[in-house]
Formats: sequence, structure tokens, C-alpha cells
Amino acid sequence: MNYIDEVYERVVNQNPAQPEFHQAVKEVLDSLRPAIERNEEKFRRDALLERLTTPDRIIQFRVAWVDDNGQVQVNNAYRVQYNNAIGPYKGGIRFHPSVNASVIKFLGFEQIFKNSLTGLPIGGGKGGSDFDPKGKSDREIMAFCQSFITELYKYIGADVDVPAGDIGVGAREIGYMYGQYKRIRGVYEGVLTGKGLSYGGSLARKEATGYGLLYFTEEMLKSTGDQLAGKTVAVSGAGNVAIYAIEKAWQLGAKPVTCSDSTGWIYDPEGIDVALLKEVKEVKRARLTEYAAARPSAVYTPGKGVWSVKCDVALPCATQNELHLEDAKMLVANGCTAVCEGANMPTTAEATEYLQKAGVRFCPGKAANAGGVATSALEMSQNSERLHWSFEEVDSKLKGIMVNIFRNVDSAAKEYGMEGNYVAGANIAGFLKIADAMTAQGIV
Ligand code: NDP
Repeated sequence: MNYIDEVYERVVNQNPAQPEFHQAVKEVLDSLRPAIERNEEKFRRDALLERLTTPDRIIQFRVAWVDDNGQVQVNNAYRVQYNNAIGPYKGGIRFHPSVNASVIKFLGFEQIFKNSLTGLPIGGGKGGSDFDPKGKSDREIMAFCQSFITELYKYIGADVDVPAGDIGVGAREIGYMYGQYKRIRGVYEGVLTGKGLSYGGSLARKEATGYGLLYFTEEMLKSTGDQLAGKTVAVSGAGNVAIYAIEKAWQLGAKPVTCSDSTGWIYDPEGIDVALLKEVKEVKRARLTEYAAARPSAVYTPGKGVWSVKCDVALPCATQNELHLEDAKMLVANGCTAVCEGANMPTTAEATEYLQKAGVRFCPGKAANAGGVATSALEMSQNSERLHWSFEEVDSKLKGIMVNIFRNVDSAAKEYGMEGNYVAGANIAGFLKIADAMTAQGIV
């Protein structure tokens, strides 16, 4: 058996019943084949892939908290510190009922490559809990966040592990966690990113993942003489990534016509009204039915359906495995020519393969959505310098980083004989830097 297949089999055997984790490892290892084969003997002797696929450590803990009825609730929580060869562990915290060890490990593994692609000194990590913030009062959210950090604080720090937000974790949750960390440790340091602007947050961090996704998509289109202006764009999700992807799509001259949440989706042929969407989702924390009620041109449909709309570009920005084979077929049939992932692993393996074979330009989240973590790293730099950069300064750095990521991904794909295969390009470009750093640092 060749080295890659051996390592994949080992991962499956050692981590039974963790399908998301297996899926992420398989996708990465499969696309690394040409890069591994060039140096297989050395990588095998150094057990480089075994070390890369095994997290440095996984912290699992109980979070007990009291709800508004005086009832004690108990949730499971995790932090995976995956690899710190190129910098402190860095990756978001997710609060969602679907969180389990498999999901956190898949996200942490992907994060290693994403963070490497940014060109900034950040290692890979991820964390979260099966806590569901929906329908909870502010006091309940605070009680949960304080209890969560009361355990996690032992393992994180500005030079050790710097968590950020993700699904279910926005500015409110980061604020409560930061306050509790500061209270316990007594230090004012950049231990979390995505902080509020009044206490060390960075301008443009909120917008960064969505904006970065569009900067990346624009650069990808430009590489073949195309452009975003005039394109119809289908977006899924209605959270942080989706909202700012929609906003930047408008700014670049495209027309975003859809968005969705976990209960239904909107088709708005006039184009999504960003101000209204922000009001519904960021201020009222309401369902998309409220958007439809306030916007005569919009049609709300319960369930899934975003990918059935005619579009030129599709941007999945909700969650993992939300774009299936049948969705990919509809997109191709409707003339879609580019898919860039705003969410992490939103496209299933079969759908990815179908899109690539149909000639759709497909870019994985670890490259296309890296603007969020890149700007988090810029927040870390500002915290270390004790300075604030202007919105324009951060935004222009973000744009430069996304353009660079596209160029590195594109040229890695070309160098390894897979022109236009951005999945392979992203994995290889991310991997080579980590492999080099791990090799230089010896067997640890
Ligand atoms: P949010 O919590 O702000 O928004 C998530 C959106 O997706 C919501 O509209 C939510 O609907 C919907 N959603 C979540 N889970 C499901 C599900 N199981 N089925 C259908 N819809 C669902 O999260 P973000 O926008 O921050 O994150 C979205 C994706 O982008 C995730 O994959 C995340 O890992 C990734 N990402 C985020 C970054 C960031 O900076 N925030 C950085 C890089 C990647 P509802 O409101 O009904 O729950």
C-alpha cells in the first residue's frame, strides 16, 4: 500500500465513527499525492503525515451553567490544538448542537492549511461546544461563555492559542469570554480575536471573511479574463460570512439574489437588500420570514433550495456539507461557472468532483474564506503593537492577502501538473510550508 493510503487507513482506524474528520483528511491527502511522491521516502521515514494528521492535543471538558429557570444545564466542549509548526494555534470557536469531536477535528485539520496559506505566522486549532445559543437570553449566553472560559483559559494565551468566532459565536460571545479570561488571568492580552472595537478589536474583522471571499473570487475570474461585475450570484447562509459576501458582491458590481438560514431561503430577483438583511439577522436575530415580509420582491421558501436558482457564481456560506451532488447538477444545468466556498467544506466530495469535471472553477474554503483568519492575525499584530489601524489599511492588507493566496494556489496547481485544480493547489501550497517548518524543527 502506498504511504498516503496507509496514513488514511490509520486515521480511520484510530478515529472510528468520525465521518467529517475522515472526509477532510481524505480530501487533503488525496490531493497531496504529487507533492508527497516527490519526497515520499523522507516523509515516510519522518512519519510526517502521521504527525500532521494527529493533533498535538485535544482538550475535552464539561460546561455546567444555570439557565433562567434555575435549572443546571450541561454541555460538551472541545478545543483541538492541531499543529503549531508555523505559529500559535489559531481557529474559531463554534457553538451549535451539531458540534462533536469529529466536526472539531475536521475544522482544526483544515485550519492548519488555511492558516499556512495566509502567509502569516499562525498554526491550526479549533474549538466549540454543542451549546445552542438560539433562543437563549443574554444572561444565559453570558453564563455559558463564562463557564466555558473558566476551563478553557488554562490552555490558551496570546502566544499559545488564540481562538476567534465561528458559527454561533459573534461579538457578543467573544466579549463575554474575553471579560472572563481577563478576570481570571488578570492580564490584558490579545487572547481572542473578533473582539469589539472598544477593547482591542480590529476594524474590518467583521467584514473580512465575506469581503475576502469576494476579493478571491474576483481574482480567480480575472485570471481568465473574466470579472464579477454584471454577474448574478447565489449565496447561502445569512450569518457573518454570507452578509458581508453579499455586501461586497454589490460593491464589485455583481447582483446577489439569494440567502438562507436553517429554516428556509430567500430568492430576491431585485438583489438582496443588505441593510434589511443586517437589521433582521444582526439586530433582531430573527428568521428570514421577516426579511420577506418587509421586501415585496422577495420570495421565502421553507427548507433548502438556494442552488436551484439561475446564477453565474455560487458562494456557499452556511455550513459543512450543504451543497450536494444534485445541487451541483442544478448549478451546472443553470449555467453556473464558478463556485467559491465561504463556509468550511460546504460542498460534498461527490459534488466537488462533479463541478470540477463539468469545468466549473471551484475553490475550497481553506483558500477562499481565509480572509477571516488572516484579519484575525492582523488583529493579533495590532494588539501586540498596541495600535489600531484604519479600516482602509486593514481592508487593503486583506485584499493583498487574498490576491496572494489565489496566485499561490494557482501556481502550485500548475507546478504539479493540475492547472485549474484549486483544491489540489490550496492543499499543496499550504502543506509545503508546514512540512518545511516541521522538518526544520525535528521530531516533535
Ligand atoms: P453564523 O453563525 O454567523 O451564520 C451561519 C449561517 O448558516 C446562519 O444563517 C445559519 O442559519 C446557517 N446555518 C448554520 N448551520 C446550518 C445548518 N446545519 N443548516 C442550514 N443552515 C445552517 O456563522 P458564520 O457566518 O461565521 O460561518 C458560516 C461558515 O463560514 C461556517 O462554515 C464557518 O466555519 C465558516 N467560516 C467563518 C468564518 C468567520 O470569520 N466567521 C471564517 C472562515 C470560515 P441560522 O441562523 O438559522 O442558524
